[in-house]
Amino acid sequence: MADFTGIRPENVFRFFEEISKVPRGSGNTAGMTEYLENFCFTHNLDGGADDAGNVLLYKDATPGYEDAPTVILQAHVDMVCVKEQGSSHDFGKDAIELVLEGDVLRANGTTLGADDGIGVACILAILDDDTLAHPALECVFTVDEEIGMLGADVLDMEALEGRRLINLDSEDEGVLVAGCAGGIRVDSDIPIGRAVIRGMPVMVEISGLRGGHSGVSIHEARLNAIKALARYFRELDKVVAFSLCDISGGDKDNAIPVTAKSHFVVEEEDLDKVREFTQKFEARIKAEYTASDDAFRVILESGTPHKIPVMDPKSQDKVLNFLLLMPCGVAVLRDGQVMTSSNLGIVRTGVDRQTGIGHFVTTSLVRSVMKTQRDALADKICAHTEFLGGTALLKEEFEPWELTESSVLRETMQKVYKELYGKEMKVEVSHGGLECGVFARRIEGLDAVSIGPDIQNMHTAKETVSVSSVARTYDFLCKVLAELR
Ligand SMILES: [Zn+2]
Repeated sequence: MADFTGIRPENVFRFFEEISKVPRGSGNTAGMTEYLENFCFTHNLDGGADDAGNVLLYKDATPGYEDAPTVILQAHVDMVCVKEQGSSHDFGKDAIELVLEGDVLRANGTTLGADDGIGVACILAILDDDTLAHPALECVFTVDEEIGMLGADVLDMEALEGRRLINLDSEDEGVLVAGCAGGIRVDSDIPIGRAVIRGMPVMVEISGLRGGHSGVSIHEARLNAIKALARYFRELDKVVAFSLCDISGGDKDNAIPVTAKSHFVVEEEDLDKVREFTQKFEARIKAEYTASDDAFRVILESGTPHKIPVMDPKSQDKVLNFLLLMPCGVAVLRDGQVMTSSNLGIVRTGVDRQTGIGHFVTTSLVRSVMKTQRDALADKICAHTEFLGGTALLKEEFEPWELTESSVLRETMQKVYKELYGKEMKVEVSHGGLECGVFARRIEGLDAVSIGPDIQNMHTAKETVSVSSVARTYDFLCKVLAELR
C-alpha cells in the first residue's frame, strides 16, 4: 500500500485510502452506502441512505454562517472497473492497490477510482474537520453515475434545501465547468429491396480504430468506422462493380464506432482489383489519420462463387449515399468549444421475417449545449432519412444544462482562484454529461458548478491523479466555502 505520511491534505488521502478498500464498481455500491451510513453515525450527522443507495449527509453552518445560503456538495461513489490484461484483481472483493510515485497516485493494474473517489474523499474530509468555516452543507453521494446517472435520476430533490451546488466530478484543475450538453437519439429505418445474384462473395472489415466517448472525444476528429466503410465503397465503385449483401458496425450510440464490416459480391475476375484497391485504400486512410488512428486496418476475405442474396441496385445506392452524407462529428464550434455534434454509432441490415422486407437501420446520437441546435441537427438527420424513403424516430431525449448568465458560485470561485493562484479560472461547457445537469433540470433556479483536480486517463487502468493538484483543489474548495457567506 502507498505511504501517505506527510502528504497533504492528510484527511483527503486517509479517506481515499479507506474507500479504496471498499468494492464500488457501478452496480456494486452497497459497501459504500454502508461505509457512509457508518460515517454519518460516528460523526453524529443527520442524514441517511435512500432505496437506491444514495447517501445524503447534513452538517450545520459554522458560527457566523447561520444566515448564509445552504451549499450542496456532490460526488458519485461508483467507479469504472477496468484492469490490465493478466491482472488477477477481483473488483467484487479486492481493495484497489494504491501506488504513490512522487506527485502521481495510480493503482496497480486497475482503474484508480480517483473519478470520483477523490471527490468523495474531499467531501468526507470537510465533514470531518470542525475547524473549517462554511454555510450549512448538504452532502450528496450518488450511486451508478457511470452507467447512466441512475442514482441522481431517482434522488429525492425535495430533501435538498440548497440552491447552490458544487459537484466534484471534473478532471481539470483550474477549469470550472458551468454547463453541459444535452442529447437526443435518432433511429433511422430505410426499407431495402433484395435480389439474388451469382458471384464471388467477399467480406471487408474496418478495424483498429481508436473510438472513444462521443461527447468527450468528438472534437479530436477520430475516424468513425462506419463512415470509413461508406467511403471505401464509394471509392471502390469507381474501380469495379459490386453488390452489397449487408453492412454492420458499432454497438453503442455514445461511442465512436471502432469496427464496421460488410459482405458483398463481385465478378470472380475482379477480385484482384478489389485486393489491390483495398491495400491502397488502407495506406491512404492511414496517412490521413496517423495522428488519431494509426492502427487502422482493412481486412479482406473471399470465398468461392455461388448464388447470394444482395440488395437491389437502387437500395444499395440509397444505403451508401445515406452513410456517406449522414452528418457525423462536430457540427458547430464556437471559440474552440464544441457546441453541437452527432455520432453515427450503430448500423445494421436485416430482413423482417414476417413481411420479408429488408431493413437498413442506423442510430445516431446528437449532442448540443443548446436545445434548439440539438433539435435542428436531429431534424436534419430525419430529413436525410425521409428523403431516401425511410422513417426516423427521436428517442431518449435529455436536456442540456445551459450556462446561466450570472452565477454567484462562478463569480466567487473565479475571485478566490485568482487570489490563491494568481491565474484566471477557465469557465467551460462540457460536451459530455455531468450529474449537475440532472440536478439543474430538477431544481428550479439551481446555481451549479463542477470542479476537480487533474486526473489523467480516466476509465482506463492507467488512471492517475496529481497529488499536489488534489491539495490545491481542496484548499480552493475550503476557501470558496468560507467565502460563501
Ligand atoms: Zn466521474
